[in-house]
Amino acid sequence: MGRVFIDCREIPSEKKCSLAMAADSEKELLEAAVQHAVNTHGHKDTPELRAMIKSAFHKGTPPMASPAHAA
Ligand SMILES: [Zn+2]
Repeated sequence: MGRVFIDCREIPSEKKCSLAMAADSEKELLEAAVQHAVNTHGHKDTPELRAMIKSAFHKGTPPMASPAHAA
C-alpha cells in the first residue's frame, strides 16, 4: 500500500498550522495525527475527533504548495 497523509493546512484552525504528516498505514497516521491534535490544537481524543481526522486523510504525499483554500 502507498503513503497516506494528512495536511493540517487543509483543516481550519485558529493556529494556522502548516504541519503535514505521512505514513505507510492509516493506523500509524491516525495515532500521530491524534497526538498532534491533542498536544498542539488542544482537542480531546474522542471517537468524533478520530473520525474527523480520518476524513481528512489522502492517498499519496503532501503537496509542496499550500492547498488553495488555506488562508
Ligand atoms: Zn496542526
